[in-house]
Amino acid sequence: MFDRASVVTPGGVNSPVRAFRAVGGTPRFMVSGTGPYLTDADGREYVDLVCSWGPMILGHSHPEVIAAVQEAVSRGTSFGTPGEGEVALAEEIVARIEPVEQVRLVSSGTEATMSAIRLARGFTGRSKVVKFAGCYHGHVDALLAAAGSGLATFGLPDTPGVTGATARDTVVLPYNDLDAVRAAFAAHPGEIACVITEASPGNMGVVPPVDGFNAGLKELCAADGALYISDEVMTGFRTSKAGWYGVDGVSPDLMTFGKVMGGGFPAAAFGGRADVMAHLAPAGPVYQAGTLSGNPVATAAGLAQLRLLDDAAYAKIDAVSAELRSLVGDAFTKEGVAHTVSSASNMFSVFFTDEPVRNYDDAKKQEAFRFTAFFHSMLEQGVYLPPSAFESWFVSTAHDERAVERIAAALPAAARAASEATA
Ligand code: PLP
Repeated sequence: MFDRASVVTPGGVNSPVRAFRAVGGTPRFMVSGTGPYLTDADGREYVDLVCSWGPMILGHSHPEVIAAVQEAVSRGTSFGTPGEGEVALAEEIVARIEPVEQVRLVSSGTEATMSAIRLARGFTGRSKVVKFAGCYHGHVDALLAAAGSGLATFGLPDTPGVTGATARDTVVLPYNDLDAVRAAFAAHPGEIACVITEASPGNMGVVPPVDGFNAGLKELCAADGALYISDEVMTGFRTSKAGWYGVDGVSPDLMTFGKVMGGGFPAAAFGGRADVMAHLAPAGPVYQAGTLSGNPVATAAGLAQLRLLDDAAYAKIDAVSAELRSLVGDAFTKEGVAHTVSSASNMFSVFFTDEPVRNYDDAKKQEAFRFTAFFHSMLEQGVYLPPSAFESWFVSTAHDERAVERIAAALPAAARAASEATA
């Protein structure tokens, strides 16, 4: 299948992180998923610790989500008119996240961040955007400078195809460094439209904000008249019922969402202060649109998933995450592998270093070659990890005792493989 795919698709995949370039080998083609398990085209079953890169927070093929999709699809797949499902999904988001007074639905996280920075520029009449090295906000031209995720995996600092003019308006700063942000505002007074940050980054591995970082960003933005945009595409509806906002309580001007809110379908959103959102077409002059925005099948899936995500669901995900973090840490300790298990709520990843990791430069100092050995050993033993040392691992409510036991059984040999790996 990969050979077939490679003939008709660049690199054989439709999104670079799916390829195994960072770890070598052939990507698995999955044909079905149930609960915490995926089955590949050769009939092999894996415990899934990627969860479609975040969305599958209830596990695969959750019966109530599937039923909601079947009910919606039986009524048609797209109308190109307003519909009740999109209103209900917007109401659910607004009810969960206090700073979101209004929300616009889109089809991908990339669209959400792209539209949010356009709105911030339109609202403020300013052009510069501040972002942080190692934060990934989708493949938006202006935000592809020093991004994490696939770009971290492939070591591309930038990408051809993004013009100098576009990149010139992007100011890239080290993460977790408020002095750098202060200096940027001092160097560009009245020119910065917005600061965009991952609410708690998961695209350089998991690197949470230090105490006061997000609050400091908000304060500096407010003092200068710039907007503070919190990208919760990954953390939204995952790290708590109200995402990372539910953890740190810092109110952004605009927020972006995706992944979990789509229930495995292409649905994403941006939203925030009503006075800012009022600048969006057709209410205001900033244009933004989408043929499939608020798609009835996608909104039905997202709404069904969000309605199942109550306090008990988050308690369960948090508990599984804590158990796995402890098992993973113990396995590396036993083999004498220098490591840090880094977490933000139930998101976590392993850095192969025992030095503190507070930003992208720190993350890049890890012995990533150990991850390659670890990854392949886990894969051989039926555990599917993200194929990169710079990605978050994701768990779901479906990761039960049996799934955890299978992971626990695979860890000793994989930790040994990591300890024996050479650069
Ligand atoms: N923002 C963050 C924080 C993300 O993690 C991602 C994707 O991983 C995006 C934006 C882009 O979302 P999408 O892949 O749906 O375009």
